[in-house]
Amino acid sequence: MDCIFCKIVSGDIPSDKVYEDDKILAFRDLNPEAPEHVLVIPKEHISSLNEANETHLELLGYIQLKLSEIAKKLGVSDSGYRVVANTGDEGGQTVHHLHYHLLGGRFMQWPPG
Ligand code: 5GP
Ligand code: ZN
Repeated sequence: MDCIFCKIVSGDIPSDKVYEDDKILAFRDLNPEAPEHVLVIPKEHISSLNEANETHLELLGYIQLKLSEIAKKLGVSDSGYRVVANTGDEGGQTVHHLHYHLLGGRFMQWPPG
């Protein structure tokens, strides 16, 4: 499959890893939008939240708990951070492998543009 993030999981494309286990991988975004900008992905290829189903329930919950752990590791737990899952064209999704942006280290405007 021609998926950049699957290639990052397999190691065919190098990445700056922040956390890894058998289910998920977290690595620094190539074009950071904040001082801390990490992408957290399931190792399993799921194209977007639209393709997630009940078989992924445990995995999706697991990712949320790991997001807070990774935020702690990055040192943004107390200052605050944002988690974003861009979905589909109007959601701004460019890579079609489910991923959660973890952004922190600066004040994040709301609402986003
Ligand atoms: P999306 O726009 O789909 O929500 O986010 C995709 C993100 O992946 C973008 O922020 C982009 O900078 C990042 N990205 C794209 N290709 C690579 C890559 O090869 N390595 C890393 N580390 N990040 C990438
Ligand atoms: Zn993939």
